[in-house]
Amino acid sequence: MMDPFGARAREIIGEFGGIEDFLMKIPMYTTVEEALERITWEDEPPEEVVELDDIRDLMSFYALLGALSHSPYGLEMELVRDKNLVIYVKRLSKGSFEGLSINVRRIKEGEIPEKDRLILEKLRYREIGDDEREKLRIGYKMWLRHFLPLWDGSLREIYIRNSWAYLRREEVIEVWKKAYERSFERAVTILYDIRDELPEFYDELYSRIKSVAEEKFKERFKLGGVSAGPLRFDLFPPCVKKALEGVGSGMRNYAITVLLTSFLSYARICPTPPSKNIRVKDCIKDISILEKEVLPVIIEAGNRCKPPLFEDQPNEIKNIWYHLGFGFTERPSLEDSGNSTWYFPPNCDKIRANAPELCRPDRYCRGIKNPLTYYLRRLYLERKGGGEGG
Ligand code: SF4
Repeated sequence: MMDPFGARAREIIGEFGGIEDFLMKIPMYTTVEEALERITWEDEPPEEVVELDDIRDLMSFYALLGALSHSPYGLEMELVRDKNLVIYVKRLSKGSFEGLSINVRRIKEGEIPEKDRLILEKLRYREIGDDEREKLRIGYKMWLRHFLPLWDGSLREIYIRNSWAYLRREEVIEVWKKAYERSFERAVTILYDIRDELPEFYDELYSRIKSVAEEKFKERFKLGGVSAGPLRFDLFPPCVKKALEGVGSGMRNYAITVLLTSFLSYARICPTPPSKNIRVKDCIKDISILEKEVLPVIIEAGNRCKPPLFEDQPNEIKNIWYHLGFGFTERPSLEDSGNSTWYFPPNCDKIRANAPELCRPDRYCRGIKNPLTYYLRRLYLERKGGGEGG
């Protein structure tokens, strides 16, 4: 089976000139309807989807990924990820494990001592049928270092010898599922950065995916997916938490006016903006959300700086409104939004370049390119159950 995140897939994407070029060319080869066929089935994926040839498969799959870049970590992502997982597992259960993105190897004859094999594969139980016997067969191994981060089950179920985990077919598939989920989320996070450059095809596909997800997850949509809601300070990235504590004079303007202002405003009123050109008035009908829930947090953080930011730079408040897109003003109305650009939170590499002390990555920062995506990921993990699994 061709793993969409494996070496063969990377090779094909490379032949198209890399991921951005590949996404640009996809609309020439596939349609919105074809991509949707992967996620609109009910009990079983259609045979024609399971049997797709490698290139068509990769194109329709990456079409969906490109569309998800508009809203990473939403219920739409869950829908696309899980439906495609079923398709790939169906293929995997019939095919070979060649070319998977996980480092799994076939084991050689005699690699497991016979006495261990007798126990592990229940070879003395004559009543076991052929199918069951095949399932018990240990035929693969993974280096323990690669295996452990991808294994959720108990280690007592696994035969470990000389730093290798020996696995049955079903166990390899379980490990692959975990690797697929991680690669999927990472890919969506990476694509988030280029969503503005993608053709309209992806906007249309995204809105169709959204409708399918809304229908499927009616109740959960009512409870709120990744939508505007009260700020969850506990799920903020380390750089934002550090800025909230107040910083020294050299970093004050960057930490408060550039990072906090953009991060808090987007996180509160538009966590998954459809494009980077959005205005505040496209997201809210009442400016008091900004005045009561966002501005006070920015001002408090500014007051915690040494020296306090707004005491020696009172005009900086106008600059905050400027960065929120209202122009250089002290008392804007909602209608003023659009007078300047509503700045999007800077990417992690910009933060590291401009204010290196703010970036103290934790385990959730892995693969993250922007603090807002960090927040979306944490919200998503929280909804998924307990916030673990970074
Ligand atoms: S990696 Fe990014 S999100 Fe994490 S602390 Fe650094 S700048 Fe913030």
